[in-house]
Amino acid sequence: MKIIPVNEPLLNGNEEMYVSDCVKSGWISSAGKYIERFEKEWSGYCGRKYGVAVANGTVALELAVSVLNLPREGEVILPSFTIVSCIEAILRNNLKPVLVDCNPHTYCMNLKDIERRITKNTVAIMPVHIYGHPVEMEKLIEIADKYKLKVIEDAAEAHSAECVVNGEWHRCGSFGELSAFSFYANKNITTGEGGMVLTDDDELVVKLRRGRNLCFGEDERFCHEGRGWNFRMTNLQAAVGCAQLENIERHIERKLSMACSYNERLRELPLQLPRNEPWARSSIWMYAVILHDEVKINAVDFASKLLRHGVQTRPFFRGIHTQPCYRRMGLFLGEHYPITEHIYERGLYLPSGQAITDEQIHDVAKAIQEVL
Ligand SMILES: *Cc1c(COP(=O)(O)O)cnc(C)c1O
Repeated sequence: MKIIPVNEPLLNGNEEMYVSDCVKSGWISSAGKYIERFEKEWSGYCGRKYGVAVANGTVALELAVSVLNLPREGEVILPSFTIVSCIEAILRNNLKPVLVDCNPHTYCMNLKDIERRITKNTVAIMPVHIYGHPVEMEKLIEIADKYKLKVIEDAAEAHSAECVVNGEWHRCGSFGELSAFSFYANKNITTGEGGMVLTDDDELVVKLRRGRNLCFGEDERFCHEGRGWNFRMTNLQAAVGCAQLENIERHIERKLSMACSYNERLRELPLQLPRNEPWARSSIWMYAVILHDEVKINAVDFASKLLRHGVQTRPFFRGIHTQPCYRRMGLFLGEHYPITEHIYERGLYLPSGQAITDEQIHDVAKAIQEVL
């Protein structure tokens, strides 16, 4: 039986031509015209002044947090329902992660919980747009301004998603001091592996560029005033990114039409389907569903039954507060985030890649009907 994969990238634009241009010209490392072009075009697309391309989304977050020079042990508020990249960026910068639960409909961090968790040691908030649906940024920015907190936006799942702030639509990735993107193969724009940090700040961008490149000296190259990393992206990756960006409207339209087809076919089933709040334009990075309570199987059983019908899925994030590695460090002991725990047990996402066909969507819906 042929399996419908949970994600397949679409690489049918100028990707091959641009990559082969790199190879033919010899510019395959981290200098070259595609890097600058990709940085300029992606930051411009998001409505930001600067973009600094890096090796992946995880290090984009780590680098972004590092340039803010936050005080050691300062507290950063983030959702429990997210990938570990977010907490790693905090821990690796000697900061203290403080978790909040998520909203049961958008799966993004619950804003009501943020204020409850603010202390005199709180220094920043890390909003994460989950599965393409934006965090309610208008309220989040209000809270950040009120308590003078920095905002590091994780937009890795929200390429081209938008939300309303002060009566106007803004792209995700345009908020806070810094925002981070991933261009992993399953993201809405891919470079294979890759990431970018965006900012409007003239000083932060200098720190980002230095930090990405081992803080090489300006006068004397091998004299280092600061400590950095090698987080560079290659020209080859940026070449793929430039080609992807040429087709972004088509990629996004495909995701939205995919969501419409799924909505139509799954409407009558005992599933919670993706929500789009009136102030948001989700990019539907992944089409996520949650089993209603009346359904007797959990997400793990659901996934294995679907696989037997030829449909590959992915489980939801496991709450950060339940991760063995952090609990072993003595973090989050006794903490509970009921919504995060509930949706982890009951949710998964369906095949939602750019390359999905109408026929595959039809087959996935049929399989779900048979399983439920
Ligand atoms: C994918 C992702 C990342 C990490 O990106 P990588 O490029 O895989 O390192 C970070 N945050 C979120 C929310 C993600 O979905």
